[in-house]
Amino acid sequence: MSAGLHAMSVRAVKGVTPAKAKELETLGIDSVAKLLEYYPFRYEDYRIRDLTGVKDGEKVTIQGKLYSEPSVQMYGRSKSRMSCKVYADPLFITAVWFNRHFLKDRLKPGQEIVLTGKWDGRRQQLTVSESEFPGGSTSRSGTLQPVYSVTGAITQNWMRKTVQQGIAQFGDLVAEALPRPLVDKYGFMPRKQAIYRIHHPDDVEEGKQARRRLVYEELFFFQLKLHAFRAIQRKRADGVAHEFDNEDVRNFVRGLPFKLTDSQKKVIGEILHDLKEPYCMNRLLQGDVGAGKTVVAAAALFATVKAGCQGALMVPTEILAEQHKRSLERLYEPYGIVVGLLTGSLTDRQRRDVIASLHMGLIDVVVGTHALIQDDVLFRKLGLVVTDEQHRFGVNQRTVLRRKGMNPDVLTMTATPIPRTLAITAFGDLDVSTLRELPQGRKPIKTYAVGHDKLERVIGFIRGEVSAGRQAYVICPLIEESEKLDVQNALDVHAQLSHAFPEFRVGLLHGRMSTQEKDEVMRAFKENEVQVLVSTTVIEVGVDVPNATVMVIYDAVRFGLSQLHQLRGRVGRGEHQSHCILIADPKNETAKERLRVMTETNDGFEIARRDLELRGPGDFFGTKQSGLPEFKLADMMSDFDIMELARDDAAELVASPEFWTSAEMLPLREFLQREQIFDGERLD
Ligand code: ADP
Ligand code: MG
Repeated sequence: MSAGLHAMSVRAVKGVTPAKAKELETLGIDSVAKLLEYYPFRYEDYRIRDLTGVKDGEKVTIQGKLYSEPSVQMYGRSKSRMSCKVYADPLFITAVWFNRHFLKDRLKPGQEIVLTGKWDGRRQQLTVSESEFPGGSTSRSGTLQPVYSVTGAITQNWMRKTVQQGIAQFGDLVAEALPRPLVDKYGFMPRKQAIYRIHHPDDVEEGKQARRRLVYEELFFFQLKLHAFRAIQRKRADGVAHEFDNEDVRNFVRGLPFKLTDSQKKVIGEILHDLKEPYCMNRLLQGDVGAGKTVVAAAALFATVKAGCQGALMVPTEILAEQHKRSLERLYEPYGIVVGLLTGSLTDRQRRDVIASLHMGLIDVVVGTHALIQDDVLFRKLGLVVTDEQHRFGVNQRTVLRRKGMNPDVLTMTATPIPRTLAITAFGDLDVSTLRELPQGRKPIKTYAVGHDKLERVIGFIRGEVSAGRQAYVICPLIEESEKLDVQNALDVHAQLSHAFPEFRVGLLHGRMSTQEKDEVMRAFKENEVQVLVSTTVIEVGVDVPNATVMVIYDAVRFGLSQLHQLRGRVGRGEHQSHCILIADPKNETAKERLRVMTETNDGFEIARRDLELRGPGDFFGTKQSGLPEFKLADMMSDFDIMELARDDAAELVASPEFWTSAEMLPLREFLQREQIFDGERLD
C-alpha cells in the first residue's frame, strides 16, 4: 500500500541478482513491497522441546549433550551413516546423521548441541536434519522459521534470507495503510510491526496477531473497492428511471392464479423501487428451488413494459426458454404484451424476424438463451435484463450490453443459494434479495437413499404413484465429460423402463435431441401424455411440472449436493406429497455423508453450506464461473468473522461524506483511483 515501496524494484534488495529477480517475478514478486508482502504460509518450529510427548515421526528440536564418540559407516565414497549417543534430559537417545560424516570431528563427548530431526519413539532415535553448535553463526533454534511457497531456483533458505534482508533495508519505510481510527478500534499493531512479525514471530500468538491485522487490511481494501464501486454506480445515475404506475403492477399481481408469499411481495417491492430510480439496478435474487422466482421476474418485466421499455429474460437452456416463454405468454395475455423467443435453434429466417421485431419495438419481452446478447441483436429500448439460474451471469453480459449503448437494469436469479460466507465476497458488488419461504401448502419432499439392488421396488413405487395419477422423472447415470455415454445410458434406461411399464408412456429426453424433439417431449410430459420421463441432466434447472411427484436419480453419488438438490427441486412443486429416491452404493465416507445430507434436509441454504464444507469454495463454484476473488492471506472460510468486520467498516466509511472529501482519506481514494474504481463498469 505504500506507493514508494511498490514503485521500487526488488533488485534494490541486496543479494537479488538479475537472474534471481527473474525467478522472483514468476512468484509475482517484482517490487520491494511485493517481497515484504510475500507472507509465509506456515512456520517451522525450531523451539526447543523435551522429548516426552513427542509423537512418532514428528519433527522436533532438542538440546542435549553428546555422550559417546560418533561411529561412522561409509557406503561407497560419499554415502554414510553416523550415529552418536546423546543425553537429552530425561532420555538417552541415538542421534543419526546421513551423509554428514564431515561433522565427525566436531562431535566430542560432553559437547553441547542442538539437534533438529525426526523422532522415532520405538528406537529412541532422532534422524537429524540440522545440527547446531553453541556459538554458531546461523542460529535457528529457539525460533519459528517462516516457510514460503518457493519454486525453481529459489530455495527456502534463500527466500528467508532475502525477505529478512528486504525488511532490514526497507522495513522502516513501511507506512500505515489503514485509517487511524480502525487501527485503534481493533488495537492492531502498526503495519510496520505486523510486516516484521508475520515473517519473524517470537511465538505463535504473535504470528497470529500480525496475521489477523494483515488479513483485516486485505479484506478491508477488498470491501472498500466493492462499496465504493456501488456508491459510484448509484451516483452516476445513468440507468433507466422506469416510470410506471404501481397500481398497474398491483393489478397484474391480483390477476395471478395464486396469492404471492410475503417474501415475493417484499422482493417485488425492492425491485420496483430500484427500477424507478435513475441508477442502474444490479440485484441478485436468490431463492430456493420452487420458491417462485419466475413470477417475481414476470412482475418486474411487466413494470418495465408499462414504463415503455423492453425486457429480456435470459436462461441457460432452450427447454427453460420455451417454458418461460409459454408461462409469460399466459400471464401477459390479458394485457396485450407481446412475448418473443430467441434461441440458437431458430432458422435464419425466424431469427431475422425476431431481431427486426426487437429493433422496431414490436416485441415487448424476449426470452432466450445466450443468443440474446449476440452482436446483431439490438433493442428499441431495453430497460431490464433478467438472467435466470445463473451463478454469475451478470458481469460480462453487462459489459456487452453497455457496448451496444444500452444500460438496462439487471436482475440475476439463482436457486443455488450462496452460503452467507461466500455471498459477501462473490456478490459483494450486488444488492441481494432473498425469497425465504416456499409458497404455502407445499409438503416437504421425502428423500430416500437405496442401493442398486432395490431397483425392482423402486419400479413398484413409480407404478403406484403413476397409477394414482402422478408423474415421475428418472435421471440417468452421469458419466463425467461424456455426453455420448450419458445419452447411451438414457437410451438403456428408457428401454428398460418402457419394458417395465407397458401400461404407461415413457418419454426420453437428452442433449443430443433436436430442439423440436425436446419441446415435443416436454410438452407431452407437461400435459401428462407422458407419465414417466427418462432424462439426462438437461432438466436440471428450472423445469416446472407440478403434477410430477417422483424423482429417481441413478448413481446419485456421481452428482454434487447442489446438483442433487436442483434435480430434486423438479418435484414438490404442487400440492401432492413428493418423493425423491437416490439410487447409490456409496463407496466412501464423503459419498455417504452427501446422501445423508440429502435425506436429512430440504433446505437449499443448509445444503449449500454443507456442500461448501465438503468441497471447499473452489469446487463449490466450479472454477470458471466462480467470480471469487483470490486473497494473498485471507481464507474465506476461516476468516469470515474478519470479513464481516471489514465489510461493515468499509460500508460505514464509504457512506460518510468525509470519505469523499477529507484530506485524511486521500490515500484511500488514491488507492481506489489506482484500482480504476472510478471509471470501470466492471469489477473483477
Ligand atoms: P423457482 O423459484 O424454482 O424458479 P418457479 O418460479 O418455477 O420456482 O415456481 C414453482 C412453482 O410454484 C410454479 O408452478 C409456480 O407457478 C408456483 N408458484 C409460484 N409462486 C407461488 C405462490 N405464491 N403460491 C403458489 N404457487 C406459486
Ligand atoms: Mg426457476
